[in-house]
This record gives sequence, C-alpha cells and structure tokens, in this order.
Amino acid sequence: MKKNIRDLTYAALEEQLQEMGEPRFRVKQVFPWIYKEIDSFDEMRNIPQSLRGKLAEKFVLHNIKIKEKYISKIDETRRYLLQLGDGNFVESVLMKYKHGYSICISSQVGCAMGCAFCASTRCGKVRNLSAGEIIDQVVAVQRDLGCRINNIVMMGIGEPLDNFENVMVFLENVNHPLGLAVGHRHITLSTCGIVPKILELAEKELQITLSVSLHACSNEKRSAIMPVNRKYPIEELLEACRYYIGKTNRRISFEYTLIQGVNDSEQEAEKLLRLVRGMLCHVNLIPVNPVKETGFAAGSRAGIERFQHVLTEGGISATIRREMGRDISAACGQLRSQRLEV
Ligand code: SAH
Repeated sequence: MKKNIRDLTYAALEEQLQEMGEPRFRVKQVFPWIYKEIDSFDEMRNIPQSLRGKLAEKFVLHNIKIKEKYISKIDETRRYLLQLGDGNFVESVLMKYKHGYSICISSQVGCAMGCAFCASTRCGKVRNLSAGEIIDQVVAVQRDLGCRINNIVMMGIGEPLDNFENVMVFLENVNHPLGLAVGHRHITLSTCGIVPKILELAEKELQITLSVSLHACSNEKRSAIMPVNRKYPIEELLEACRYYIGKTNRRISFEYTLIQGVNDSEQEAEKLLRLVRGMLCHVNLIPVNPVKETGFAAGSRAGIERFQHVLTEGGISATIRREMGRDISAACGQLRSQRLEV
C-alpha cells in the first residue's frame, strides 16, 4: 500500500526528495501543498510534472472520505463519519464557539482501553491511525467547512498515548508553519492515564494542553469503570501529572464524567478536591452521555451544580461541559459503533 504523504515530517520529506534527486529548495514548495485543499499531486502547479508523477507513484494524498455528515439545528455542531483508505471508519466532530471552530478528532480505529461508559471501546481496537490519517480529518473537515479551524482536541475515538509515535508526528506536522500552522496552545490531548507515556510526553515540553480522564477518586471505583487504573492507579497517575506540570508549566485539565449513583455525590466532590488541591489544574465536569447497554445516566442539573460548587468553593476552577449537538447525538464513538452493528 502507498504511504500517506502526510505521515512525513518536514525533515523526512526533505530527505525523501533528495533521494529522488531533487534540489534542496524543493521541500519548501512541496510541503505546503500537502496541506492544501487538493486531491491529486497534479494540482501542485509549481512542481515539475515529472516529480508530481514520481510522488503519485509512491504516496497517496488526502486519502479520506466523508461518508456521513450531520449538522445540528440547535448549535451548528457537525458530526462526521469518515472513511479511511482501508475502509475503516473514524469520527470527527466540529463545534462552533464564539472564538472560532474546534474539532474533535480520533487517534485510533476503536480503542483498547475498555472504559465502561464509552462507546468507542465496545468492539476493541482495530488499529492505530497514522499521523497522516489523524491530520486528514482536520483537512477534510476544514475543507467541508470552507474556513479555518482554530482548535483541535484529541478526544475522539482512541487513546492517543496508546499511539504515541504517530501522535507525536501529527503534533509536529499540524504545527509546522508551512503546513496547517496550528499552535500547540490550541491543541488538547486527552488520555485515560497511561502513566509512562505521560512522563515521556512531559520530557518533550510541548505547549499543548494535557487533559486527563479521572472520573473517580478511589482506586476501587476508578478500576471498576476504567480498567487502565488497575495498571496505573490514581496515586501514580497524579504523581505523573505533577511531574508533567513541573516540566511544562502548563495547567492540566481533569475530565470528570458524572455518572448518577456512581461518582457524583458531594462526598466524591470533596474527595476530588483533596486529590487535586494545590495542583495547577482545571476540572471539566461532563454529565455522562448515555450509551446504549451501559445503563449509566447523568444526574440532575442541580446535583451536578452542587458537585461543581464543592470544587469551586475549595479553590479549584471547575466548569460543566456544555452539551453540544444533542439532536445529532454528537458524543464520539456512537456513530461508528452504530454502523458496526448494522
Ligand atoms: N482515550 C482518551 C480520549 C478519548 S475519550 C481519554 O480517555 O481521555 C474523551 C473523553 O470523553 C474522555 O474523558 C472520556 O472518558 C470521555 N467519555 C467517553 N465516553 C463518554 C460518555 N459516554 N459520556 C461522557 N464522557 C465520555
């Protein structure tokens, strides 16, 4: 199978072009084209035709198709089912905010992490996405939208730190000034808490926002809904988070999905407060999105606000995630998993 040209970093493309006998300056011409809205190498107008042919023999360009698209009538959220070159599906969701557009993208086909409340993991992991396939989602949606996307969140299908190398190449490529030039401060990476990879990421000292899915305050409860906790318990996870903050000086965002009767009592809020107090962090409360067969439900709005109040009174900044695209059930993973069932 031909390689996705968006898998190549700038340096790797430079090397590739030199191997093809091209002059040094060629990379500066070719690289920007790779991120433009074109479908074939032939559209690279200022590149010699012979090179366009050679590139087409070796690489594919923009190898992703929009198979289904839903636009919310409530808030214009767009939900996409995208098909990869090998026929697999992933999902991306585009959200409109006052300050611009934000896209939620996938990092794997399926997920191996097995969180009890999550639709993306129900059929396990099929494979990692390549760096190019992660970026293809941004280019495809940006193209469909007709304007620039400002923020990227890796909160779609998959566990980004279980696909570490490709995600690192993605972060390098998406940030490149001659490519999409999205600043790392506009990118959030969300993880269920793979401790050694958080430590490895810390060493890179990137300016991205790290978001950590915490969801419970005792190992017993967390292990029951997030199997990853059996390997990397809460104390180790929070230690890694402290290390990450120390290294990067960036505020971590903790995701806490509120599930009625499981982790949403005021006592749990107090426990959470004790766990994260003193850390440079923010807590993002997410009323659980009901997924068929999990039986989980979100509690009342008043209960969620009480939970938030405990945190803010204790000096921890906490927000309740606004539900978007309710009429098109835009919670990620649901579209792909429904299509797997039919
Ligand atoms: N694997 C990564 C990123 C993908 S999930 C992670 O675990 O962080 C993005 C976020 O959505 C995570 O916080 C995840 O726990 C949460 N999530 C998954 N299913 C959900 C559901 N049904 N309701 C609310 N949040 C959910």
